[in-house]
Amino acid sequence: MEIDHMANPIANRIRLVLGDITTLDCDAVVTAANASLCGGGGVDGAVHRAAGPELVRDSMALAPCPAGEARITEGHRLSARFVIHAVGPIFRDMTEDKKTLAKTYHSSLSLAAQHDVASIAFPCISTGVYGFPADAACEIAIETVTEWLRSNDMPQFVTFCCFSPQDQTRYQKRLSELGLAE
Ligand code: ADP
Repeated sequence: MEIDHMANPIANRIRLVLGDITTLDCDAVVTAANASLCGGGGVDGAVHRAAGPELVRDSMALAPCPAGEARITEGHRLSARFVIHAVGPIFRDMTEDKKTLAKTYHSSLSLAAQHDVASIAFPCISTGVYGFPADAACEIAIETVTEWLRSNDMPQFVTFCCFSPQDQTRYQKRLSELGLAE
């Protein structure tokens, strides 16, 4: 589909990349944290390794962080100025957990706006060890972000950072269906 960027400014503010979120050059990277903000595996492990040991000291001082909420720290050795530690739901019940996952994205965007973050990158929160079905998680991520962008100027740019080609295809498809990607 041909995108009319003038008619759809939201499309200009959304990016999709495949790769390691710790290498991205944006103002804030989001990590899929656990409630105790003590670091972990998956994307959180990668973020903590890349940012260095100061990150866990700062994040644990802001714990606990219940599912649906987020906390912000400096990025330390990352090129990103901030890390947003977002806690998604551990998947159990689709109806409840959908709401919590949307809240997690919303909390992260709200924190970013409060800190004048112009560009933010999200991993596919809750879709790893937390077990959230990937299609539903993708829909919620895109819906929550696009709703936010429609009514807020900040962050200006949002990157969905997929770590697998399957997720990249999933996001690409959903964004295209919404007229937000080619
Ligand atoms: P959760 O506990 O919220 O499920 P995980 O870290 O287990 O978090 O997985 C969340 C998503 O992050 C998964 O899609 C996983 O493939 C992805 N991921 C893992 N490492 C990275 C990374 N370095 N950069 C971006 N995404 C990553």
